[in-house]
Amino acid sequence: MNIAILSRNKDLYSTRRLVEAAEKRGHTVRVIDTLRCYMTIASQRPTIHYKGEKLSNIGAVIPRIGASITFFGTAVVRQFEMMSVYCLNESVAISRSRDKLRSLQLLSRRGIGLPVTGFAHSTRFTNDLIHQVGGAPLVVKLLEGTQGIGVVLAENQQAAESIIEAFRGLKAQILVQEFIKEAKGADLRCLVVGDKVVASMKRQGGEGEFRSNIHRGGSASSIRLTPEERSTAVRSAKIMGLNVAGVDILRSNHGPVVMEVNSSPGLEGIEKSTGKDVAEAIVVFIEKKAQPGKNRTRGKG
Ligand code: ADP
Repeated sequence: MNIAILSRNKDLYSTRRLVEAAEKRGHTVRVIDTLRCYMTIASQRPTIHYKGEKLSNIGAVIPRIGASITFFGTAVVRQFEMMSVYCLNESVAISRSRDKLRSLQLLSRRGIGLPVTGFAHSTRFTNDLIHQVGGAPLVVKLLEGTQGIGVVLAENQQAAESIIEAFRGLKAQILVQEFIKEAKGADLRCLVVGDKVVASMKRQGGEGEFRSNIHRGGSASSIRLTPEERSTAVRSAKIMGLNVAGVDILRSNHGPVVMEVNSSPGLEGIEKSTGKDVAEAIVVFIEKKAQPGKNRTRGKG
């Protein structure tokens, strides 16, 4: 099969591993720089061009769309869908997962465990919003943050009020969230492919840090999930409409709670800490599922 990986950088660990796994299984792989694609949107004949060439004969697309290029990246994926090319994760599902609030709303509707979360536009009722999520300590999050940037712990009511005011003063959109203290600065990253968790790791934040992000100095180790955690991860990916997802879970007193569902999960941390071949699992999944016109929305989103 001809597989195209949409990625800004062919030297990234995840991109390299996907190329390697696909070639090992006999496929022809190309890495396409998402931002160098351009499209013509003409009635009935959607096309994608890349560095002067019209792309054709692609059997499957693996989108690796970074958060900073979501708008253009999902437009490229949508165009492939309209050309009936199978896309591992669909454009609508990627857009959905990039909006933390929208994701939490969709997950809550289906009964997935979540930290109690508040969201408001006006600052007039900040006190009540804080009260609604159980009071301080609580976590304030920038809606558009990634890698733990813009995730702040407010230890008491006063700190909570001033952090919320500061973010609001900057016109930032924020979530206010119950602080899951008992997670002790650790979270679980569950790598879902289709209806299975193919690898899982525990990330532990550095000393005195409640955020477990590796980018913030956290460390990773392999972990065995409980059946409840496993099914929460798989269900969350499904609700978001993602075939491949990195589902982040905290262990709370009231069971597993989902933080986030990531549509382009990095492979380096999870492969290195678990020894699992996640790239191969992704390629095997594509072999089973990739057929022209098989995407659910077919570019309709
Ligand atoms: P990002 O998308 O920027 O990584 P997250 O919402 O995943 O932001 O938060 C980063 C980290 O902070 C999480 O992995 C988790 O370790 C910690 N964290 C986030 N929200 C909470 C919370 N409500 N309670 C406890 N820890 C949290």
